[in-house]
Amino acid sequence: MNQPTNDVNILGVNFDNTTLENFMDIITNRINEHRRTFVVTANPEIVMYAQSHSQFNDLIKQADYIVPDGIGVILASRIISQPLKERVAGYDVFTKLLEWGSTNHKSAFFIGAKPNVIRDLQRVVAKQYPGLIISGTQDGYYKDESIISEKIRLSSPDMVFVATGSPKQEEFINRNINKSEALFMGIGGSFDVLTGNVKRAPKIWQDLKLEWLYRALKEPSRFKRLMILPSYLNKVFKQRQQHRK
Ligand code: UDP
Repeated sequence: MNQPTNDVNILGVNFDNTTLENFMDIITNRINEHRRTFVVTANPEIVMYAQSHSQFNDLIKQADYIVPDGIGVILASRIISQPLKERVAGYDVFTKLLEWGSTNHKSAFFIGAKPNVIRDLQRVVAKQYPGLIISGTQDGYYKDESIISEKIRLSSPDMVFVATGSPKQEEFINRNINKSEALFMGIGGSFDVLTGNVKRAPKIWQDLKLEWLYRALKEPSRFKRLMILPSYLNKVFKQRQQHRK
């Protein structure tokens, strides 16, 4: 069941080499055991951000698991000849946990996205995952974090999903992980997707590993974020050369 995961280091970030199925086994066991767990779902953008922000780099080193949420990370692992088994997308882990949580009557706290989206989310989760207990919801544009921290502490959920984008979500988790013996996971724009406010790429784009391109085409402001890719790949090739020396 719980196969140990070996790390693959990509530009200083240690990724767990696991599959979605194995990872689900690992974290659901930890939730059952009430073990505090910090999961980072990282893509090339996060890796690059960690490279240039040492505090953030130190922060994600505190994570229990870092999983590859993006084909750019899988590609890098192949370039350095230490292939990661598969992409473990934050969105997939999120929806699987909701399903598992519904079946097993677990509780979850949701933080992130715009006020209308988090309202939609509450409806969608109650309808699609009726066995799941919603401990609390909070949009991602709050002013006073201490009120949210207190709500987490008082409701003591099994899972805390933070969808405010990186690095805000990981910084929030770092400050609040002591509030509940829970799984804490940063999951970017997942609430927008689950509520249908943002469409995930059609399956064919996903199969062609071009989800990132689809999203950029749909939301041109995302193109700016793709600008880091050439420099990311350049650094990965440098890492490969250093290994070979
Ligand atoms: N967001 C938020 N608070 C903020 C900034 C962003 O809740 O202060 C939300 C935003 O509404 C969106 C998500 O964070 O739902 C970020 O999504 P993005 O697509 O940037 O994340 P990705 O999926 O690329 O990690």
